[in-house]
Amino acid sequence: MLVTDDIQALSTAVSGTVALPDSPEFAAETFAFNAATVHRPDVVLGAQNAQDVAAGVKWAAERRLPVAVQSTGHGADSVVTGGLLINTRRLQALQIDPVERTARVGAGVKWRSVLEASVPLGLVGLHGSSTDVGVVGYTVGGGLPVLGRAHGFAADHVRSMEVVTADGALRRIDAEAEAELFALMLGGKGNFGIVTELEFSLFPLGEFYGGGIIYPGADAALILAAFREWLPTLPDHASPSISLLRLPEMEFVPAPLRGQFVVHLRFALMGNRDAGDALLAPMRAVSTPLMDTAGPMNYLDVDQIHMDPADPLPFMAGGALLQDLGEETLADLLQLTGEGSDCPLLLVEIRPLGGALARAGVLPNAVSGRDSAFMLFLLGFKMPPVAEEVAASIRGVLAEMAPHSTGYTLVNFHGEPGDEADRARAWSPAVYERMRAAKTSYDPDNLLRFGHAITGAPPAS
Ligand SMILES: Cc1cc2nc3c(=O)[nH]c(=O)nc-3n(C[C@H](O)[C@H](O)[C@H](O)COP(=O)(O)OP(=O)(O)OC[C@H]3O[C@@H](n4cnc5c(N)ncnc54)[C@H](O)[C@@H]3O)c2cc1C
Repeated sequence: MLVTDDIQALSTAVSGTVALPDSPEFAAETFAFNAATVHRPDVVLGAQNAQDVAAGVKWAAERRLPVAVQSTGHGADSVVTGGLLINTRRLQALQIDPVERTARVGAGVKWRSVLEASVPLGLVGLHGSSTDVGVVGYTVGGGLPVLGRAHGFAADHVRSMEVVTADGALRRIDAEAEAELFALMLGGKGNFGIVTELEFSLFPLGEFYGGGIIYPGADAALILAAFREWLPTLPDHASPSISLLRLPEMEFVPAPLRGQFVVHLRFALMGNRDAGDALLAPMRAVSTPLMDTAGPMNYLDVDQIHMDPADPLPFMAGGALLQDLGEETLADLLQLTGEGSDCPLLLVEIRPLGGALARAGVLPNAVSGRDSAFMLFLLGFKMPPVAEEVAASIRGVLAEMAPHSTGYTLVNFHGEPGDEADRARAWSPAVYERMRAAKTSYDPDNLLRFGHAITGAPPAS
């Protein structure tokens, strides 16, 4: 149990905010974008800089207290109970090097800030569907980008990082300095340390074409079948995805679509209007769109492609990697989640992998699932009238779709971490074994044990 002297020692060791559950700052310091998750650590540290993170971890290690980290709470898939939660949102350093084409960011930086600095210089980073997500949490989870088929996973393009390991040491690591730790941090989620700074490559931005087409849900079978036929015709620099949406009567939904069941095709292309229109033509002809926003796009409007909610909401999610999108896969998915089903989920999404996502990065890392064809992602709002049905629905759909799945997941889309066997599904067996060995070296007391955490391999006898 923590006593006043312990808290005093932490407050003395750091320059940031230290808050206990009865402090006025506690709610703001622990708040997660996923408002369904209300963290209850023993104490939260609002770190001001990397030295605070190191001092916080060292303090916790001396007391064998578990440590969790959060910047935005977009990935708050489970509740942090007890221990020390380190909030990194104040680590806002951001530097773009237009010559080297790199960005260096602190652990609190969101993708939106990177784009606001890099797009005027003609450069973009490999962010995901919402630029409100934190760069570091997303990237240590692999980072499946909007432009993934063109460039691969975000983790494939990290050059170096600064990380505080479970002993409280602040290390600068890259492909040469502590290469195994560096590789496993990229895709291994927060299992081996807390990143304080990340340096990664940016890519030249030429003409950009993007947006979405929204169709009536009644045509879902037709549209999904056409989507499957259309995919092989696309070049790698085109990144599409598709979802079934049960849109709530909420403000973030465009007014004419509120309350409707629709199909949402998303499309991103490094190319001009002619190229985009030509590639999209078959999908524009398949059904009469309710809305079509695809066209030349200012890259700073990139969030309009997926239209993810920008404000915190309570939600729950789950995912699976699929082997194919064959007739049986689609038929089963539509029966479970299509029109006429009693599916309560807001989002049933299919993201094709392939292209550069299928190829290993130049440097090895822990990203797994590259051999899968598609990712299935399910998300429901934990709000009336469906709040109580969402968890069972996600479990049920994933169980029924299991025959079409590879059995693995992407850690950023895994949803609530279950038991050890369930958590292990986010990595290939070979990567998982390397991670267990690294966990034993870098976190022998299993201090970083929250969320998608793994346990170390038992010492060799
Ligand atoms: C609306 C929305 C859209 C999304 N779109 C995509 C997408 O297109 N592609 C994709 O790959 N993912 C996507 N995600 C998932 C997202 O990338 C993960 O949830 C990610 O973990 C969020 O990181 P965060 O720092 O914003 O969240 P947080 O909740 O603050 O952190 C989540 C986890 O990331 C790890 N982490 C955070 N900071 C650090 C750190 N400093 N050091 C070490 N580990 C850390 C920890 O394990 C932590 O529990 C999306 C999520 C949402 C809610």
